Amino acid sequence: MKHLLEVKNLEVHFKTYGGEVKAVRDVSFHVDQGETVAIVGESGSGKSVTVQTVMGLIPTPPGKIKNGEILFDGQDLLKLSKKQMQKIKGSKIGMVFQDPMTSLNPTMKVGRQIEESIRAHQSLKGNEIKNRAIEMIRLVGISNPAERYDQYPHEFSGGMRQRIMIAIALACQPKVLIADEPTTALDVTIQAQVLDLMKDLKDEMDTSIILITHDLGVVAETAQRVAVMYGGIIVEAGTVEDIFREPKHPYTWGLLESVPDITKDEKKRLVPIEGSPPDLFSPPKGCPFAPRCKYAMEVCVEEMPPAFDVSEGHHAKCWLNDPRTPKLEDLVAAGREA
Ligand code: SF4
Repeated sequence: MKHLLEVKNLEVHFKTYGGEVKAVRDVSFHVDQGETVAIVGESGSGKSVTVQTVMGLIPTPPGKIKNGEILFDGQDLLKLSKKQMQKIKGSKIGMVFQDPMTSLNPTMKVGRQIEESIRAHQSLKGNEIKNRAIEMIRLVGISNPAERYDQYPHEFSGGMRQRIMIAIALACQPKVLIADEPTTALDVTIQAQVLDLMKDLKDEMDTSIILITHDLGVVAETAQRVAVMYGGIIVEAGTVEDIFREPKHPYTWGLLESVPDITKDEKKRLVPIEGSPPDLFSPPKGCPFAPRCKYAMEVCVEEMPPAFDVSEGHHAKCWLNDPRTPKLEDLVAAGREA
């Protein structure tokens, strides 16, 4: 089946004075028309570098795309010239960043900033451009759009600024919207409003979304499929149900245990994932989670686990899913659990 956007075996490294950081290692995933795929993981897991590579935002040097393909609309984005990529950015793939205050130009009225995006990618003229910009302000749920068109970013609240960023990203009706931690800088109630807005606009415009987040609550609310990243690798991927109901990787278990469950009355301590992420200057040859994993076996340290299929579309890179590995219950019964 042909996917709308497909990332295949992506490897991205960065040259630094301290050595080469292997930030993204053999990452593959896809997005289909109209769906939301979340990429989750802690800071430094490689999720932002992955989507920045899709958008052609990795400076080379120090970045280097060592391997992989990013297939979109029948072409490999990694083979396009800067000019060709510029045409795709904004018109076919839009992006919303984490902090709207640093992404918006503080000296320019927001209406003009939306217009810039329209002008760069659409063939509208004169008043049509202004009308479209005002329409986008209305569409993202801001009242008095014609007046707001003439205001500067500092006259908007944080949530409103993020709505303007979404308006800029969606002004040209891109096929894919990449949202990199779009609600992290917002307080909880505003977060919910912005997520609802993105969901509504996605349905209205039939846009696909790649959502980068470290917040599993946001994933459950918004996505249909999830890729869990750790140490530059996708360690588990599946539908939201697969990941929340039948997770098959100890790192995913750790992420789920560190989220409060407000549906249960009993008071339960949240369990942090002890230890630190791997050093990506010299990542371990085996499973990157092994130093923090209480189920680690000899093979985990020696050999990188392949992606074991759990069910259709659900796979996990963990040796516990190898049919030759004893069942976890048996390991626990044998006193292996720490
Ligand atoms: Fe733990 Fe081994 Fe699975 Fe890695 S492969 S998560 S170390 S059990």
